[in-house]
Amino acid sequence: MSTAALHPAFDRQGEQNDETRLDAALRSFVGDFGPTAALHLESCVRCGLCAQACHFHLSTGDAKYTPAYKLEPLRRAYQREASPFAPLLRVLGLARKLTVEDLEQWQELVYDSCTMCGRCTTICPMGIDIAELVRATRHGMFKAGLVPDRLALMDRTARQWGSPATPAEDLPDILAEVSAEHGVPIPCDLPAADILVTAAPAELVEHTKALADAARILNQVGARWTMHQGGFDASNIGFNNGDVELQERLTRSLIDTAVKIGAHTVLLPECGHAYGAARWEAARWYGETLPVRVIHMTEYLDELIAAGRIKLRPLGGSATFHDPCQIVRRGGLEAAARRVLAALGVEVIELRDHGLTGLCCGGGGGVVSNQRAAPLRHRVFELKKQQIEATGAQRLVTSCGQCRITLDMGAKHAHWDRATESLLELVADQLVDDVQGA
Ligand code: SF4
Ligand code: SF4
Repeated sequence: MSTAALHPAFDRQGEQNDETRLDAALRSFVGDFGPTAALHLESCVRCGLCAQACHFHLSTGDAKYTPAYKLEPLRRAYQREASPFAPLLRVLGLARKLTVEDLEQWQELVYDSCTMCGRCTTICPMGIDIAELVRATRHGMFKAGLVPDRLALMDRTARQWGSPATPAEDLPDILAEVSAEHGVPIPCDLPAADILVTAAPAELVEHTKALADAARILNQVGARWTMHQGGFDASNIGFNNGDVELQERLTRSLIDTAVKIGAHTVLLPECGHAYGAARWEAARWYGETLPVRVIHMTEYLDELIAAGRIKLRPLGGSATFHDPCQIVRRGGLEAAARRVLAALGVEVIELRDHGLTGLCCGGGGGVVSNQRAAPLRHRVFELKKQQIEATGAQRLVTSCGQCRITLDMGAKHAHWDRATESLLELVADQLVDDVQGA
């Protein structure tokens, strides 16, 4: 496929010249070529099966959205700079050098049309982790100053504030407001606690009910918990942008704050956002087993129900469940949400594609924040909408606030009268008040 067929949209940050940009990208690519990445880049057999997994390809039929094709800059850089035959290929002129124009052309493919959902990874017969390699590509793009402007803006904010949306110093006031609005105490900056509770950016702005509902449940079971200015935002903005250094800083702030206050657990909000970074990547950054347990809200609810620490009034009816990619496919939490729904007395009618093979909401990996990707995202939403309608279920439930926002935006654009409900909020609404903590 010629690069001329690609979408022309790209943004640039900074004033560096093309040579400097390219050099920065190549150094990042080469630095990320560990043995696993090299093996994956060597082993693609061009079977094209991954195309049938990607919602961007499925919804458009456009070959440029084939997952393996999104890795082309990385593959080219590997062949020319780091493969065993790199010197020979260079001498023989068999590996064309990457150009800044190549990177600009591929910006749309690695940012606008990849949610890093990992569905292609599960289908690849060679076990190639395409989503992980897209992330490595984004790392190089970030170093080159070739990131969608919307994401670059959030990155700068997060570097300054420790959050892409909320300055840390505003946290006490925000929590006081949420507390007053919903009538539930929310502790902030306690010097000691067992559980450090974190929030998704949206929970501090518009989805405050989710945060208040988490507080209600934690208070009811008598947990010793707090939120804390030192680490409160469960964000993966760094991974989304390719700013790995920022992501490490954000994730470390959660774990280090938990250690500082003596907490044994970091509770991640109902969001896929930080799950991968905090649950899986953090151990690599620390170079050892994490000093605290990191769990997602759904796991916490599941454990409270299993231990009899909360009881729920039956909700009844039927629901279908949207599996958030980062929590279920890449996080392995497929059964927990279904056990919580069962405890609510809800009949689950599965989507045609669910669990490990569920279709992404279309907004992950920063796509929902990347405004210029909205038309493509709306096309992807149609796939999800069709599957949801086919279930005939009364409710649509998910356990990720970001998926919920994406699905609600898609429904609004499609004039589809269907709201996505939060599993956490359903649990809080059905909570029986007289069960006390163990
Ligand atoms: S990770 Fe998801 S969005 Fe990205 S190429 Fe693979 S299937 Fe498509
Ligand atoms: S499914 Fe795997 S081996 Fe086949 S084209 Fe895609 S990345 Fe390559």
